[in-house]
Amino acid sequence: MGDYVVRCVGCGSVRPPYTLVCPEDGALLRAEYALKRLSPRSLPGIWRFYDWLPVHDIIREAGEGSVTYRSSALSRELGLKNLYISFSGYWPERDALMKTCSFKDLEAPPTMQRLRERCDSPTLVVASAGNTARAFANVASMTGQDLVLVVPESGLSRLWTTVPRGRISLICVRGDYYDAIQIGERIASMPEFVGEGGARNIARRDGMATVMLEAALAIERLPDHYFQAVGSGTGGISAWEASLRLVDDGRFGKVLPRLHLAQNLPNAPIYHEWHGIKAEACPSEDMFDDVLFNRHPPYGVAGGVRDALADSGGDVYGISNREAADAKRLFEGAEGIDILNAPAVAVAALANAIESGAIMSDETILLNITGGGVSRLKEELMPEALRPDIIVSSSEEAIDFLAGRS
Ligand SMILES: *Cc1c(COP(=O)(O)O)cnc(C)c1O
Repeated sequence: MGDYVVRCVGCGSVRPPYTLVCPEDGALLRAEYALKRLSPRSLPGIWRFYDWLPVHDIIREAGEGSVTYRSSALSRELGLKNLYISFSGYWPERDALMKTCSFKDLEAPPTMQRLRERCDSPTLVVASAGNTARAFANVASMTGQDLVLVVPESGLSRLWTTVPRGRISLICVRGDYYDAIQIGERIASMPEFVGEGGARNIARRDGMATVMLEAALAIERLPDHYFQAVGSGTGGISAWEASLRLVDDGRFGKVLPRLHLAQNLPNAPIYHEWHGIKAEACPSEDMFDDVLFNRHPPYGVAGGVRDALADSGGDVYGISNREAADAKRLFEGAEGIDILNAPAVAVAALANAIESGAIMSDETILLNITGGGVSRLKEELMPEALRPDIIVSSSEEAIDFLAGRS
């Protein structure tokens, strides 16, 4: 049960299970599961895909999964015949019950479970622009695990919870997401702390991979195309890895879905890299979406975003603020649920792909709505703001605070 080895995507060597990158070539590592056929367990949420998650037990209180349904209204608006929507968020009528309203809810529970399985029980450190921090805060509060969150000031408004706050230290950073990441890395390098590893963490990737597994079961095949808004591109890598496993399984088709990844212009490093465009030196402050800007995505590393795009015949879309805003209105009006700004960028990419002829109207399309239902949840569950314990300008201040805490 839950049997796997961790293998380097570059050189093929097997590595100890908690390694994050290959020490030989710096490539991403991937879980290789003993079972090659997808056989869902009668367990709740994502734990259904237990055989393809790198864990040996589950967290019963957490682990809500994504939900796939066939669209009728948006499908009609766009002139598509086989549009499926994967929804991660809060939408009770469709059995979508993620309490932090984004697909980061798929990554946090397997990461926390895997941490529990380590003998040294370190404190997890998560640096985040908001959605990831919210998801990890939720799981940590339910399980009582220690957690340090490092969040830029601009991300604070995204930090709320519907459960009593657990053993969480919330450090707010004067600066941007990049500053928060750097302070998080300093903390994680200290004894008894560990960073969650972002895209290099197989528990995060295989948690996100359940989007494609759940969709393939619902559609009864792999889609021809997969649309997602990306920042780090981890979700894109995960969708690719899930597809490789499903192709191996043999019952879902032989062709990998083409990845259509979308970013909000002009802060769009993956878009610029893929198209070989020189980016602006200064990032723009005026963005429709600000969670999708990651300055150092795992792009060129073996097993990273470029490999996922090349292997699947994919493409990257640059979406303007205007296009994203229009797409958000279109989606919400048609499907009847509020969505986050990031997935609106994916909806705009889908509209562009139809216009350019990159996809055909009868092909099977999976649109990943990576977050939504926040307005619904706020009406019904009245979440509370998570308040910072300290506001810092440097890693020294953060480390002093943590040292004085115990
Ligand atoms: C994090 C996030 C994304 C982008 O995720 P990747 O890690 O780049 O795949 C997209 N949408 C939402 C709502 C997110 O929180």
